[in-house]
Amino acid sequence: MDKQYQLPGQTAGLQPASESLLAVLWQQFKREFPSPEHCLEELCRRATQDGIIKCRHCGSQEVDREFGKRVIVCRRCRQNYSLTAGTFFHHMRLPQPWLAAIWLMERGVSLSSAQFEKLAGVAYATAWHIHNKLTIVIQGEMTDESLALPSSLFSALFCKRSRETPARSHPRTEEEEIAASATGKQECNHSSGLNLPNLASPGLSPFNRQSASTTDVDQDLAEAGLLSAQPGGAMDWLQMSDEERRINDLLAGQELHFDVLCARSGMPAGQLSAHLTMLELAGHVRRLVGDSYVRAVDDKLGTSGATGAHNAVCRGLTHEAEMLVACAIKFVREHYHGISRKYVQNYLAGYWCHVDRRRWQLGSLLQACLHSRPIGDDEIRHYVSPALVRIPLCL
Ligand SMILES: [Zn+2]
Repeated sequence: MDKQYQLPGQTAGLQPASESLLAVLWQQFKREFPSPEHCLEELCRRATQDGIIKCRHCGSQEVDREFGKRVIVCRRCRQNYSLTAGTFFHHMRLPQPWLAAIWLMERGVSLSSAQFEKLAGVAYATAWHIHNKLTIVIQGEMTDESLALPSSLFSALFCKRSRETPARSHPRTEEEEIAASATGKQECNHSSGLNLPNLASPGLSPFNRQSASTTDVDQDLAEAGLLSAQPGGAMDWLQMSDEERRINDLLAGQELHFDVLCARSGMPAGQLSAHLTMLELAGHVRRLVGDSYVRAVDDKLGTSGATGAHNAVCRGLTHEAEMLVACAIKFVREHYHGISRKYVQNYLAGYWCHVDRRRWQLGSLLQACLHSRPIGDDEIRHYVSPALVRIPLCL
């Protein structure tokens, strides 16, 4: 944790891709991989290079395959099997969108599912599944080079409902529930209190609720510009000005004195004071005695008692960690607008791929996918980000 690291930005990938830049990249990809057969050849070439392709029956690496075909025939035992069966690409119908998504991410290009849908000419649900499966692979690569932080630090982003959102509630209530369950769980298991850094293990969360009938793909249509159709005041943070959002982010999970806010926001005192007044009037922020400010949502969490320890963690963040959180929030906001709490860990993994260009250089994501276990659609649907999410320390 006390390791020296650079803040993201210095190694950052491309900014929210413009349509003209995307068109150029897309042409480049199509020149490299003009057909599904060429994509399969690339998968096979890379898998062979990594020594992954061997006969499932006798283990021999001496195999034959026709150009662009998935069927592999063993030269020794003559049995055949599919190149993609039982791998990360198991359910892949067309290889091109998958390879394209990987190809773009390896170049630091992050697209929303709606953008990818349009670019690759696939269904929104396909684009959404590709994004989530790839980011789960990336999560699997997060090791010591990441910080475990309460997901509540990212609650400014939670404006999309998911199957985890309680009925008729704001998307952020998911966070309150997770925080309460996490604290309750810890009180049962560790009477000594919070055990921060090792709790966040990417993967299936124990806090799954499987009763919801709507699919997350439906909910995720908000990403495609249907946000305003959502109930529960989901738009409220979107209506803030950039300065107000910045103040709101600075206050995430902690109370700050006016002078500290002034220093951290870099705003003149008069301007800051005006914005705080607006935020207070809109019910986003509360002023405390001694000229400190707190976000209304955090204040509510803090006074509920169950999440006091959780908030104490937020207040104990180092300046570097605060900056990492702020940069990640900025990234998600710029590229995806708002998200649901349920998938915040996936977006943070995508952020890592976007900014850490040294770790996620060309070829690296495809390699991680080739070595990944299969990830089913059900796993994505039932996935819930853990109470402590991982955020990369970008070296
Ligand atoms: Zn064989």
